[in-house]
Amino acid sequence: MDIQFLGTGAGQPSKARNVSSLALKLLDEINEVWLFDCGEGTQNRILETTIRPRKVSKIFITHLHGDHIFGLPGFLSSRAFQANEEQTDLDIYGPQGIKSFVLTSLRVSGSRLPYRIHFHEFDQDSLGKILETDKFTVYAEELDHTIFCVGYRVMQKDLEGTLDAEKLKAAGVPFGPLFGKIKNGQDVVLDDGTEIKAADYISAPRPGKIITILGDTRKTNASVRLAVNADVLVHESTYGKGDEKIARNHGHSTNMQAAQVAEEAGVKRLLLNHISARFLSKDISQLKKDAATVFENVHVVKDLEEVEI
Ligand SMILES: [Zn+2]
Repeated sequence: MDIQFLGTGAGQPSKARNVSSLALKLLDEINEVWLFDCGEGTQNRILETTIRPRKVSKIFITHLHGDHIFGLPGFLSSRAFQANEEQTDLDIYGPQGIKSFVLTSLRVSGSRLPYRIHFHEFDQDSLGKILETDKFTVYAEELDHTIFCVGYRVMQKDLEGTLDAEKLKAAGVPFGPLFGKIKNGQDVVLDDGTEIKAADYISAPRPGKIITILGDTRKTNASVRLAVNADVLVHESTYGKGDEKIARNHGHSTNMQAAQVAEEAGVKRLLLNHISARFLSKDISQLKKDAATVFENVHVVKDLEEVEI
């Protein structure tokens, strides 16, 4: 499982940073890629990665500001132009209004897609668990921005323990149906009377990963709730230390506030994105240094950077 950042800038594109989008690559887990936000030019960034647009099966939108959604019509149209590839449906999750934005853009530009889009819109009253599959559950909660904006908590379900085939063979269990029984947790008795306890041959279940991806927000308790015990928290850092007042006025956070959220939630790692173009490279190292005084395992991400979870 990896996160690849497609756009890490705030508000408008700069030479170094495109506007918001990131890909949660779940290729080993479910052979899918989930996009979070889709700012203008996201499809161009994707061209610089190994991501195949057809693998993008779900798109989660945090809020309807342009720097988070203007890339959707272009991406959705290009996704249709993949010769010789099967056309697969796509799900879009986001605030009420996202459906009308996408359908209007496609209609007035005469774009017809050869695949179906399933929209899952929500508002303040319909948040909580927004998706559950056999492997993942996704929750959304409202943050504190200048318009309705959410954060997402993606929880992988616990991974089943694996069967130790070598150990079973060594214990004299013949390869065949008995393996299946033991894998299902059944104890068995061999022909020679040996008792085989399934639990001795199956490793303990491994806890699934928790990934928290927030939209634009002031510091709020909702962020902490979404991030509790997360393996990775992706948090905006539009402003730096000392800018708390201006951050509040514009509905954003500073690096220090993001670090406080990470600390309060007990996350393992904090990745800062949504970085203003005002920050030069020396400022970026300062952003990290200052945040690290509150939460040590912090990193300011760059466009196209890939982080293994
Ligand atoms: Zn915004």
